[in-house]
Amino acid sequence: MPTRSNVSIDSLQRDRFFHMTRRDSLPQVLRGLESIARHESVRPIKVNAVAMRGFTEEEAIPFAEFARSTAFQVRFIEFMPLDADHAWEPDAVLTGDELRAIIHGVHPLEELPREPHSTARVFRFQDGSGEIGFVNPVSEPFCADCNRVRLTAEGKLRTCLFSLHETDMREPLRSGASDDELETVVRDAVWRKELKHHIGEAGFRQPPRTMSAIGG
Ligand code: SF4
Repeated sequence: MPTRSNVSIDSLQRDRFFHMTRRDSLPQVLRGLESIARHESVRPIKVNAVAMRGFTEEEAIPFAEFARSTAFQVRFIEFMPLDADHAWEPDAVLTGDELRAIIHGVHPLEELPREPHSTARVFRFQDGSGEIGFVNPVSEPFCADCNRVRLTAEGKLRTCLFSLHETDMREPLRSGASDDELETVVRDAVWRKELKHHIGEAGFRQPPRTMSAIGG
């Protein structure tokens, strides 16, 4: 039974949500969130919004007010070069600091202690309930204590969002590998885990898999 949930919503305005997703589904997504919230064993419920310059500035305050009035932890995630359209460019990144300044000007924030391996800097509102997080992989990389690996729907183990190599787990699983053999495959992959991403450096190559094909 899952006890945590992440939902992506890049805009709380119906027309802009449609523009981003090519689906007029914001009311449906919000109803889904309300349904999840009724299950008290599912916490935290995180609402992730990708922050893009020229778009997300006007979402900052509505999302802050959403975080203040619901049980959901809103998290802004800096735009990374994992997009299907290859539209990423450095200038398109709206940093977490910039968004935090916009929100802090209206609803003052104070930072909570960072949990080990956390991807987000989490803040609470000084005058009330609610939390808001900022995931800043571009402006403040947190690769140094990253402990994430991901398994895709087709059984490929990825040791970094930006991995150019994957480890196949499906074939050994289907051919009856023992737990010890699978552990060796995973250990070998994790031993070679990337030290950091190279966004913004010469020679950076965007991985063929987009974020949606990785699975978050
Ligand atoms: S090592 Fe890769 S997955 Fe981990 S934080 Fe850095 S970019 Fe993200």
